Amino acid sequence: MGSVVFKNVVKNFGALNVLRSLDLAVPDHKFLALLGPSGCGKTTALRILAGLDMPTAGKVFIGERDVTRLQPRDRDIAMVFQSYALYPQMTVAENIGYPLWIRGTSEAERKAKIGEVAAILEIGHLLDRRPRQLSGGQRQRVALARAIVRDPAAFLMDEPLSNLDARLRLTMRGEIKRLCQRLSATTIYVTHDQVEALTMADLVAVMHGGDLQQMAPPIDIYDRPANRFVATFVGNPPMNILPAALSEQGVMVAASIVPLEQTRLTACRLAGIVEIGLRPEDCSVAQPGEPGALPGEIYVVEPMGNETLVNVRLEGGNVSVRAGRDFRGAVGESIGVTFDPANACFFNSAGLTAVHRVNNNGRVK
Ligand code: ATP
Repeated sequence: MGSVVFKNVVKNFGALNVLRSLDLAVPDHKFLALLGPSGCGKTTALRILAGLDMPTAGKVFIGERDVTRLQPRDRDIAMVFQSYALYPQMTVAENIGYPLWIRGTSEAERKAKIGEVAAILEIGHLLDRRPRQLSGGQRQRVALARAIVRDPAAFLMDEPLSNLDARLRLTMRGEIKRLCQRLSATTIYVTHDQVEALTMADLVAVMHGGDLQQMAPPIDIYDRPANRFVATFVGNPPMNILPAALSEQGVMVAASIVPLEQTRLTACRLAGIVEIGLRPEDCSVAQPGEPGALPGEIYVVEPMGNETLVNVRLEGGNVSVRAGRDFRGAVGESIGVTFDPANACFFNSAGLTAVHRVNNNGRVK
């Protein structure tokens, strides 16, 4: 296996600057999710790593090797595409064995290896079928089997689950995670789905507009987002953001003053914060007029089965609150919203997180 490094990688398509200067280092054996909205340059970065596109400037390393100018076949990587890209005229066994065949591996060795990976992916009973005789999930497994059949230095996966229905996506998400842990393979996984990124990866790299916004373990991306973009892109519903101003005693949010502990107050003052960020699960609904509660009005109530999402209109903007499954309330009713400011983060005028939530070893609730 090998580490993967992008060094100042720039990519232009004509006048379009897709990657500005990508610096990214994925340690050996780690699973990195490259996460970002459509068009942010994720696939372009992956294609450059695979050798399918050339960077306009910069270098790419796999292990110790500078692979920037190498042909795809010389890079020792395996790629799994969104479309699976199976050969329709070949059987499942031939599809899986193809990367070994083009390397001139003997038939006996090929057969043994195909049997081995087919067993790992539980597709041994499908080896004689053609791709058209398989379900979407089975095709996906064949594509994965073909990728792992020879031990490459790195696996590259481009939205491999996006053609599957929601239930199968959930199953395969767990399967791919287990597979990558078992193989301990360096994996770069492109997705625009933040749940996939958070649940599967050791490290998440969030991209936006051709720039890397933050690279960190999933819990840090969630709890300590580097900026407003990461804070709102990750999390569903997204983090609530409201205008905030400082007073002597605390922070003024939605026309109320929320007391802030002195060191945080000083940090916010020095940083010149202009907004507060609150996760929906760090907010609670309260009786209207309850001391300390921000006064608001119910805008939407969404029962989710296990919980209720309550959208509340406050002065300065709406906030989502995760309430209990037994929450009852009607649109337009007065309601209060409370939160512990230790769980809030604060943004400066450049949109950077100037003061993070208080670190309390993971989630508060
Ligand atoms: P998605 O999730 O939609 O696949 P992405 O983040 O993977 O998005 P890319 O496919 O890397 O985005 O594309 C980034 C930008 O580069 C887009 O604006 C796209 O239109 C443009 N682009 C990609 N490939 C080419 C190409 N060969 N020629 C011109 N423009 C391209």
